[in-house]
Amino acid sequence: MRILLSNDDGIHAPGIQVLASALREFAEVQIVAPDHNRSGASNSLTLETPLRTFVYPDGDIAVQMGTPTDCVYLGVNVLMRPKPDIVISGINAGANLGDDVIYSGTVAAAMEGRHLGLPALAVSLDGHQHYNTAAVVTCSLLRALQREPLRTGRILNVNVPDLPLDKIKGIRVTRCGSRYPADKVISQQDPRGHTLYWIGPPGEQFDAGPDTDFAAVEEGYVSVTALHVDLTAHGAQDVVAHWLTKTEVNKEW
Ligand code: MN
Repeated sequence: MRILLSNDDGIHAPGIQVLASALREFAEVQIVAPDHNRSGASNSLTLETPLRTFVYPDGDIAVQMGTPTDCVYLGVNVLMRPKPDIVISGINAGANLGDDVIYSGTVAAAMEGRHLGLPALAVSLDGHQHYNTAAVVTCSLLRALQREPLRTGRILNVNVPDLPLDKIKGIRVTRCGSRYPADKVISQQDPRGHTLYWIGPPGEQFDAGPDTDFAAVEEGYVSVTALHVDLTAHGAQDVVAHWLTKTEVNKEW
């Protein structure tokens, strides 16, 4: 199995390094990852500047100023030959639950793999300690995929509780929960008296019902959510069409 491994925390992050070691026990792994932390980059592509790569002596490749999506795009289309069989992203430092998937560079890297026609997996740890647990879980999922390919055409968003392996209760198939709106902005003064702003943490859990990713991880289960990219709100289409007719918007031009 040939794996393209990326992340959004950057090539030196512990998560990607721990996962690479574990995967290399049974697979061929090419790391192509951002040279620094690009968490929150979502699906952004770098279009206005060229991309430069740095190849480490062991073959791992850092993309300078690259986003996770840049990395997978370059990795699949030019850097890894023969092409990978699968794209894996992670292990992210911190969970990607509910609405987080919209902002997540970790999930975006997997989505890019999927866009390019490959199966893909995003893996996040709900903390910063037990990367080994998430690595073992990821390896098990991969071996299962080798035995029995998953024919959903979707990416899997995997979130692992930050616990020792023997405390993990199992795996649950979940749906994305949701969060309250994020409203925290931390402001500071720079030495010249100008105000600086830091975007604060994500909102608290809003929909964390029993079948959600939030609930699974909180209860000690690995959460596996199949994601698709079509954001169309099919249930709202009739409402919008009716509203357009009623308001006769098109009569105004
Ligand atoms: Mn991250």
